[in-house]
This record gives sequence, C-alpha cells and structure tokens, in this order.
Amino acid sequence: MYGKLYLVATPIGNLEDITLRAIRILKEVDTIVAEDTRQSLKLLNHLEIQKNLISYHRHSKEEKQKEILKMLTGGKNIALISDAGTPVISDPGEEIVKLALEIGIEVVPIPGACALISALIASGIDAKEFCFLGFLPLAKKLRAKKLREIGEAKNTVILYEAPHKIIATLKDLEEITCERRIVLARELTKIHEEFVFGTAKELLDKNFEPRGEYVIIIEKGNFDKEESFINMSIEEHYMYYENLRIY
Ligand code: SAM
Repeated sequence: MYGKLYLVATPIGNLEDITLRAIRILKEVDTIVAEDTRQSLKLLNHLEIQKNLISYHRHSKEEKQKEILKMLTGGKNIALISDAGTPVISDPGEEIVKLALEIGIEVVPIPGACALISALIASGIDAKEFCFLGFLPLAKKLRAKKLREIGEAKNTVILYEAPHKIIATLKDLEEITCERRIVLARELTKIHEEFVFGTAKELLDKNFEPRGEYVIIIEKGNFDKEESFINMSIEEHYMYYENLRIY
C-alpha cells in the first residue's frame, strides 16, 4: 500500500502556532521533507521531534522528486513542510503534490498558519472576495501586467514582498492604486508585529526603514467612481489610463 503525503503547516513566527494534529503527524510520519533542513530543525527541536529529515527546495532536481515519490510508493508516510507557514503557498511542494496525485497517492492537508490569511483577517479590508498574487515578478513586462491587474482589481489583492523591495513596490502601487487603502502587515505573530494603514502615498511619506517580513493588502478599486469619469477632463482621463500602463 502507498504511503500518504501530508502537507503540514508550521508557524510563521510564533512557535505556538502549530496545531495538535500537525505535531502528531510530524511525530508519526517516517520522513519529514523540509525546504531548509536547518530552519526546520529549530522547530523540530522545539517540539522534541527527532525524525529522518530530507531537503526539498525550489532548486531541487527531478531525482529528488523521484526519491520522495519512491518512498511514498514504497509505503512510507511523508510530511512536507516549508520554512514557514503553509507549504505550496509561495513555497515549494506544488510539483510533488501534482506528481503524487497523478500516481494515486493520497495527499492530506494539515492546515495552520498562513501569512496571507493572518494579514487579511486583521486588515479591516474586505475579506469576502480576494485575489492572492504572491510575489510581484521582477521582469518588467510581467510586473507591468500584474500591476495592471491590481489597478483593475474588483476584489481585495494580497501580495507577499521582501523588505528590500517594499519601497519600490509601494512606488509602483502608488501609480495605480491612487486613493485605495493599503495595509502593510509586518512580522505577523512575532514580537514586532505591526499593521500600518494608508494609501500608497501616505505609506511612502512615512519614510520608514523596511524591516522583517511583509504582506501587502490592497483594497479593491472603487469602480463606481468610474461614473465620476463623466466629471473628468480629457487630460485627467488620459492620465488615469496612462498610470495603469506605467511601463
Ligand atoms: N508559505 C508561507 C505562508 O504560508 O504564508 C509563505 C512563504 S513565502 C516564501 C514568504 C513570504 O510570506 C514573506 O516574504 C512574506 O511576504 C510572507 N510572510 C511569511 N511570514 C510572515 C510573517 N510572519 N509576517 C509577515 N509576512 C510573512
């Protein structure tokens, strides 16, 4: 009989944010597949779990996937974890999941912490409908396309961003989000957890020094306002669409 592939969510900061079920699964499986084994060892040591640990990250070669699938088809149960939060979400694992499903292996989600959900629920921004875009691409064309999507979004948009890119991203967002509210959710579940609110311009005007990990929540566009286009001059109308096409 095939083993099962468990996708186990781990904390995004506070080590208490792991479920009882996740801990049990981590204890019961034959092997834990981790993104960065040194990082995961900190958690496993904290939980006093000693387990066969192998690495699987975004640069892992096909042989590594085959090795994992071979263990599963050989009847071994495996827990896949990432450095933080929910595996597969802007983290490695998607390929393994697809391959496992293709050969009939049971894939079991073990839910828990996820930065985008934690940020969204405390942001005060509409959580009924949202679109998660992960990290904005760096390649100019792709980035411009995503920024256009954000500019035209009819629901809340959520982004992940690295601290050294947050200012550049806010500058890009300023061009297309105008008066829309933005929330920067920083260092969630950690000592310096912070929510900063404002339009992109207001956030940039704070001249802050970005530190730690960030989720960006962007309010949907208020397209009822488009009715007010009637009141815009031709120049203003032109500038509005130019700003949606900034590259
Ligand atoms: N799989 C993870 C999850 O479930 O949220 C996300 C992994 S992704 C590689 C890492 C990004 O998630 C960071 O760059 C940041 O944007 C966001 N992130 C992770 N932990 C965070 C935290 N504690 N506070 C704010 N953002 C966080």
